[in-house]
Order: sequence, then C-alpha cells, then structure tokens
Amino acid sequence: MRHVESVQEFLPLNNIVPSESALSTVEPRLRAMVDALPAYIAYVDTELRYTMVNRTYEEWFGRPASEMLGRTVGEVLGDSLRNVQEHLKAALKGETQRFEARLRTVTGDRVLFVVHLPDRDETGAIRGVIIHGHDVTDRVLAEEQLRLSEERLRLALSAADGVGTWDWDVTADLVRADPTFARLYGVPLSRAAIGAPIAAFTRNIHPEDAERVGEAIARTVEACGDFAAEYRLLMEDGTVRWVFARGRCTLAENGISHRFPGVVIDITARKQGEEALLQTEKLAAVGRLASSIAHEINNPLESVVNLLYLIESSSTETETRTYAHVAQDELARVSQIVTQTLRFFKQSTLPSVIRPAELIDSIVTLYRGRLANSAIEVKLEIRDEASGLLCEGEVRQILNNLVGNAIDAMREHGGQLTLRARGVSDERNGGKGVRLIVADTGTGMGRETLNHIFEPFFTTKGARGTGLGLWVSKQLSEKNHGRLRVRSSIDPRRHGTVFSLFLPYVSAESVAS
Ligand code: ADP
Ligand code: MG
Repeated sequence: MRHVESVQEFLPLNNIVPSESALSTVEPRLRAMVDALPAYIAYVDTELRYTMVNRTYEEWFGRPASEMLGRTVGEVLGDSLRNVQEHLKAALKGETQRFEARLRTVTGDRVLFVVHLPDRDETGAIRGVIIHGHDVTDRVLAEEQLRLSEERLRLALSAADGVGTWDWDVTADLVRADPTFARLYGVPLSRAAIGAPIAAFTRNIHPEDAERVGEAIARTVEACGDFAAEYRLLMEDGTVRWVFARGRCTLAENGISHRFPGVVIDITARKQGEEALLQTEKLAAVGRLASSIAHEINNPLESVVNLLYLIESSSTETETRTYAHVAQDELARVSQIVTQTLRFFKQSTLPSVIRPAELIDSIVTLYRGRLANSAIEVKLEIRDEASGLLCEGEVRQILNNLVGNAIDAMREHGGQLTLRARGVSDERNGGKGVRLIVADTGTGMGRETLNHIFEPFFTTKGARGTGLGLWVSKQLSEKNHGRLRVRSSIDPRRHGTVFSLFLPYVSAESVAS
C-alpha cells in the first residue's frame, strides 16, 4: 500500500492522465522521475489500452513504449498473463487489486508485487487503472529458501525418530515446542505450539535429575552459553525415558531479551543398551573368575594324583610319609587358592612368606613325576644371596603356571628345565628382590603366539588348556609389584622359552600386617 501512495506522490494523476494524450502532457521532470523508478508503472484506460508506460515497464516486458501505447493489455501481454487482465477488469469495477505475478523477463524470472488502482475523475466515474508493480523476487526467494530449509529440518527431525525441538523466549518465559518435544514432556500439543512457561516442561523431569538440570539451565541463561545435559523424564504412564538435550542461549537482536532454542533426543534405547552391556561384562568377569579358579586348583589336584601314585609305589614308610605330607600341603593350597581367587581384586592378605630356594624345591618335588615321565632334566641355579622373603601362595601360583607350561612344551621330546634364582636390585627404585628364571628347551613360540599369551583364554592346547595360566600370572606379578617377561625362539637349532620374573622382597611384618 505504501508503494502506491508513493506513486501517487510522484504522479499527480489528475494532471497527467486526464486523456488519451496524457503522455505528451506529462511534465518532462516528472516523466524523468517516473522513468527512474525501479518499479514499473503504467496506465490503462477503460478499454485496457496503454496510455502510459515507464522505462522499467519497457525493460521488464522487453518492448519499447511505441509498441505498447494505444494497444490493449491483451494484445501486448498475450495469453501469458491472463490473470493480470482479470485483475484489471476487477479494478475497472472499482476494486483495488493486489497480487503477486510471476513474469518471464529478458533478465530472468521475476516475482512482482502488483497493484491495480482504479482511477476516477471528479465525478467519481472510473476512467482507467494505474498499474504499479515492484520486484519482490529476492524476498520471495529468501522466503522460499527459509521455507525449504524449515521443511528439510522438519523432515530430518521426523526421520530421526524421537528428536524434538524447543524455542524458549526466556524474557517472556514462553517455550514453543514441536509435537515430539511436547509429547516427551507431557505438554498438550496445542499449548506447546503457542507457547507455555518453561515450568510446564521441566515439571516432568525425573525428581533425581531435576535439581541438576535446573542448575544447568540457570547457568546457561546467566552465562548466555551452551547447554547440554542427559537426564530422565517421567512419562505419564509411569515409564522413564532418557533424553539428551542440547541448546544455546543467545541475546536477541534487540539486545535485551534472551532466546534459548534447542533440540532434545530420546536416548532411552542407547541407555538400555549400555545397561545390558554392563550386565554382560559383569557376567563375563564372573565367568572368567570361575574358570580361573578351576584352572588354578587343577594344578595342585594334579599333583595330589601324582603323589598318590608315588605313595602306592613307594617302598619305605618314610618315603610314603613325605609324599603324604606334600599331598596334604597341596590340598591345603586348593582351599587357599579358592579363597584367594575370590578375593583376587580386593585384598592381598596372605600370611605366609617363603624363600626362593624353598619354593623352587617344593615345586620340583611336586612335578617330579611328570618331569621324569617326559624325560626332562632339571637344572637348578640358586644363588645364596637370593634369600629374601616372598609372598608364598601367589608366587607359588605363578611359578606353578610357568613350570607347568614348560613341561607342556617339552612333553613330546623332553629337554631341559632350568630354574634360576638370583638376588638383584630393582632397576627402577634400587629395592632388593629376586629374579626367577624358568627356562625350557621346548617348542618355543612364534611372534603371533607371543602377542597373545597374556590374554585370558588364549591357548594353543585346545581342550587341554584354559588360556588362563599366564593371564593370572601376569596379574599376580603386577599385584606383587613384580614384572613378568618372556623371550622365546622357534629356531630349530636353539628353540625354547625363557620366562623371567622379578619380584621385590617383602618384609615378614608387612605381610603379617
Ligand atoms: P594354557 O597353558 O592353558 O594354554 P597359558 O596362559 O598358561 O594357558 O598359556 C597360554 C599359551 O602360551 C599356551 O597355550 C602356549 O601356546 C603358550 N605358552 C606358554 N608357555 C609356554 C612355553 N613355556 N613354551 C611354549 N609355549 C608356551
Ligand atoms: Mg598354562
């Protein structure tokens, strides 16, 4: 409407269009102004014949005024703009017309906002129509872009099931929300569409999360910053849903009011998945523990079986008693291991200590039967200075595993088992300790095997192995602040494996306490 008024300001219409010869009477200065307007202006009489067109009109329709003046709109525009003619006819009946018209011009497609204004003489009779149109292509394109991107956003959100959006006018405390958001927060859709106070939405946050989320919102508004929070919503049907909300508080253009728009995503499914995973992980850990117990008690039980065999075939009573003694010790160890494995990650209370020499001795005794059966020669290298104290049960468990593996590796072809104990100081802190070596001339291990031996359940022995021995040994040595290392060769000339275990000595008191 404003445009039309401005046109009238430029065109004292009563002066310039009183007759068919209007064009010639237009004052040149005025005419120049009309031509300079970026809008198009034309005048048609009651028969819809052009009596005036400005320069822009000529340009947009791509014809000189001479081709238009005196002709009817129908002749000039043809069928292409039939609706324009309808508007003109309506204007001739006295109704001002306002409409958008799409126009194919020499410079491309344009959208015009057109006004057809009836022009009356002094008596009030209509004598023609003032045509005014200005280019709104840019605005329409911008609107179209906006509409499209909003459409796309809406599509994207609805495609991503359970994504809702909100826009909070903080100053007015009005939250406008889309249906997904409204549904999640239990606010009627119609209310959410026109806007409701934030309290109507936060009311449904789980009581245990409400305070935390409330504080986060307050902080965001205060700092005009970013917001991100994971929390639970209490649904009307009593179920709980997890959501992840992300938003940003910004100062509006007026510099006073705050806006705080954002997106919320329903992450309930993910949360349930995580929960299930944790549960599975726990079960797996329990399973691992159970099989490690089984594995660890297998060794002493195996030696009890060996000892019973020896007792049966022993010739003297002393010999029998010695074996029975060892068997008793081994059985005691079974119960010890069970308790210990259960306490594995909790505490390290083991009352007894032992010297490396004694420990190695007892292990050799233990395996005597198997060693002899497999034609394995044992070589002991125990230095006198290796005389500190070690935590008995756990170190025994490690050595048992290492010796057991060495025997397995030499089971078929025999070989030599070397057990060495040497007093050393810790390369890291100079503390005193022992280096125990368990070396065999067995099969050895290739690189692939070596990469995995400390992993639980890794075994190359099929059903005979559990793959837990080295895993447990590694954990136990770390728990005792020790280090377990391995070197191995499958070179046919000098194959075999060397496990080296460093353990710091313990003081008897520290173990007792
Ligand atoms: P398991 O003895 O039940 O297989 P371990 O954890 O004790 O489980 O050992 C894992 C794997 O490491 C064995 O299956 C074997 O392949 C390899 N291994 C361990 N010690 C030796 C050794 N002294 N010589 C050759 N291979 C060994
Ligand atoms: Mg083993």
